[in-house]
Amino acid sequence: MISNIWEQFLTIAREEAGSRVVETWFKAVTLARWDTIEKVVYLKAPNTFVQKWIQTNYMPLLHTHLGRLLHVTDLMVVFTEEQKDTKVSGASEDPQYRAAAVVQFDDDINMVPVEKKMTALVKSSLVNHCGNINRTYSFDTFVVGPSNSLSYAAAHAVTEKPGRLYNPLFIYGGSGLGKTHLLHAIGNEIKEKDKKAVILYQTADRFVNEFINAIRFNKIHKFQQKYQVVDVLLIDDIQFIANKEQTQEAFFHIFNVLYEAHKQIVFSSDVIPNNMSGIAERLRSRLAWGLVTDIHVPRLETKIAILKKKAELSNSILSDEVAHFIASRVTSNIRELEGALIRVMAFASLTNKAVTLELAQRVLAHAHAQVDQLVDFDRIITGMSKYYSFTLKDFRSKSRNKELAFARQVAMFLMKKLTDKSLRDIGNFLGGRNHATVMHALHKIEKHIQDNPDFAYKLKDIEAGIRA
Ligand code: ADP
Ligand code: MG
Repeated sequence: MISNIWEQFLTIAREEAGSRVVETWFKAVTLARWDTIEKVVYLKAPNTFVQKWIQTNYMPLLHTHLGRLLHVTDLMVVFTEEQKDTKVSGASEDPQYRAAAVVQFDDDINMVPVEKKMTALVKSSLVNHCGNINRTYSFDTFVVGPSNSLSYAAAHAVTEKPGRLYNPLFIYGGSGLGKTHLLHAIGNEIKEKDKKAVILYQTADRFVNEFINAIRFNKIHKFQQKYQVVDVLLIDDIQFIANKEQTQEAFFHIFNVLYEAHKQIVFSSDVIPNNMSGIAERLRSRLAWGLVTDIHVPRLETKIAILKKKAELSNSILSDEVAHFIASRVTSNIRELEGALIRVMAFASLTNKAVTLELAQRVLAHAHAQVDQLVDFDRIITGMSKYYSFTLKDFRSKSRNKELAFARQVAMFLMKKLTDKSLRDIGNFLGGRNHATVMHALHKIEKHIQDNPDFAYKLKDIEAGIRA
């Protein structure tokens, strides 16, 4: 399966370039087609900005790993235009329509002097996660709010008396909510206080791989030793040890040695120990021996504070307005929130523009469109009334007033785009107009969008308003 190939590529890219890079740039891209004869891979980016960024920074990564996954040496990677509107069906399955929703970003981006222009924030997103502890993940850079205060407090307490207070500490919560950050913060803080402390951070899946290799190359003893001499062991995403019985056994042994020597152990996971399946009971119970704390999805205030903190760390200032917009736009997790911020900052820095609300709307409108809720006709009419002085009654009337007719066509376009209703439904709703009239309106508005960037932005605004 071709989508599997892309998933595999994302996993490799995460390892090589860091999960922030994947979240910011590659997540929005899909592998559209793989031409086995010509050896061409077609990728779809949500807009030309993301496309250009990837082309400037990550072509070698794409060539190397996609090539390997597809078993070809001279792979060609081609970006095709996003065909956003998959909801279009039936008669409007017209290619002209489907290619129309592309946001034009190429107008003012010059990608050549990328390196020079990048903000610190963007640069930091490009840094490879090499070495053991990531210095940027400290307690200072962690924003505390109701969703994470318990885990933060526990993590901090652990650094006061490693191995004595909460051992092991087990932090659980959804993806991208700060678990890895806290593990590194513990490592950094303890190291700060005690330069001689031996601290080891490892993800559970790397631990598994290391163990497998140790067996293969007859180095089990060395492997055990490496883990038994540490003062602090930070194991990230421990759930990945599930169903790996032999690894669990080896780990069980390491755990016991460290625990008895009062060495601090910290775990992170996406589930609580009780709900972890595929883990031997004796190990599972040990995971919960100390303190178990959780991290939730933050509320708006915390998200805004995090955005401001991230901006501040890169010596940029984010206005309340923009922070609020980004925070309310990205709901699921902080990694995505950060990705959105980085995209906005990168775009501003490459186009030499200030980070305004308008710019943020432009950059983010498209990328997150797919997570937005479907809306109904009434909401569209209400949303439009802020921009056009016509009522529903006007829209339904027979009047052919030029301005009104145009606004009516905009309404049709938005209804097709934002709802899953048929052309007939739309026509009926707007005064019993027929299917062909609606079709004509769609084509006309699409053309208008392409010829007229100002109108395209205005439409984006209206759309954002309707979705909000
Ligand atoms: P997890 O390990 O839970 O999947 P991470 O620790 O990798 O999540 O966090 C994802 C990103 O979000 C990181 O860049 C991290 O710095 C950031 N982040 C998460 N929580 C916070 C917070 N409370 N304050 C500042 N940054 C945060
Ligand atoms: Mg993590």
